[in-house]
Amino acid sequence: MRVLSGIQPSGSLHIGNYFAMMRRMIEFQKEHQLFCFIVNYHALTTVTDPNLLKENTKNAILDFLSLGLDPDKSIFWVQGDVPEVTELTWILCNHAPVGLLERAHSYKDKLAKGLSAHNGLFSYPVLMAADILLYQADAVPVGKDQKQHLEITRDIAIKFNNTYGETFVLPEPWIPEETATVPGVDGQKMSKSYGNTLEIFSSKGQLKKKVMRIVTDSTPVEEPKDPEKCNVFNIIRLFLSEAEQEELAARYTAGGMGYGEVKKELLARMWEYFAPYREKREQLVNDMGYIHEVMKKGQEKARAIATVTLDDVREKVGLNY
Ligand code: ATP
Ligand code: MG
Repeated sequence: MRVLSGIQPSGSLHIGNYFAMMRRMIEFQKEHQLFCFIVNYHALTTVTDPNLLKENTKNAILDFLSLGLDPDKSIFWVQGDVPEVTELTWILCNHAPVGLLERAHSYKDKLAKGLSAHNGLFSYPVLMAADILLYQADAVPVGKDQKQHLEITRDIAIKFNNTYGETFVLPEPWIPEETATVPGVDGQKMSKSYGNTLEIFSSKGQLKKKVMRIVTDSTPVEEPKDPEKCNVFNIIRLFLSEAEQEELAARYTAGGMGYGEVKKELLARMWEYFAPYREKREQLVNDMGYIHEVMKKGQEKARAIATVTLDDVREKVGLNY
């Protein structure tokens, strides 16, 4: 089965990205044909500083490799290194109803957050459809925020298949409930562009500051608390076994425990969890030659598959004459 997912180099990668997508992808490489990529064309919709985009892209590559993505077992590349995807995007634009794109929550959320309503942001789901359909992916592991984009992808694929004959595989979103939406420090969805993240690889001081800022209610220490409604609980549980989650939930409901105490535990857990990966990253960061070599190989593997689909599409729509 072909499993595909991408991540934007729109900022430092965070534990929402990790639990919803990165960790699962690294797990899937054992049993599936894995397609994993850094979607820098997508990041152009929000990042306008070229040096920042370059830095973020390198960091995202380093993050994935340090966390265990194996470039020999998978196809790991940078989206912009296979520009064929932009050609498919243009072709698919003609099968993407404007009304459908106007209803995209992610577009509306970004506008509400003050981003400007340009065509790149609006057409983001069409580029994403091209990403997925170009590689004929069967499954796409994502967070819940991407569910609607997957539906748009399927709609576009169905329209295209109806017009030109069976061409694209219809992809399924893979979204487990436990990691569907990881809350950020402000309680909203954790997002790079909302500045509310707990970064996978930040300094301990930075991380501590962020953890201490996690929004909680004002229930006094001695009173019972509802773990389900607590942002700190909903984050720390990602690092705990089921038994540990139950034990912590019991401490919430018993009363006598302050949120500060759980925040300290979260900091310690998270720091410990990523320790081996931090070490790996420190080694890799000094070997950018190796990184570029790896990405070049990834580009070649991805392009070999992309061109097969694109040749077929060009023929079907009549671009070959
Ligand atoms: P941006 O704010 O720039 O959109 P982001 O933090 O939302 O960045 P993306 O690169 O857009 O990250 O998404 C990468 C993957 O991580 C997607 O599969 C997305 O569904 C998932 N994801 C992002 N944030 C969360 C979250 N808070 N909870 C669960 N999944 C998430
Ligand atoms: Mg996003």
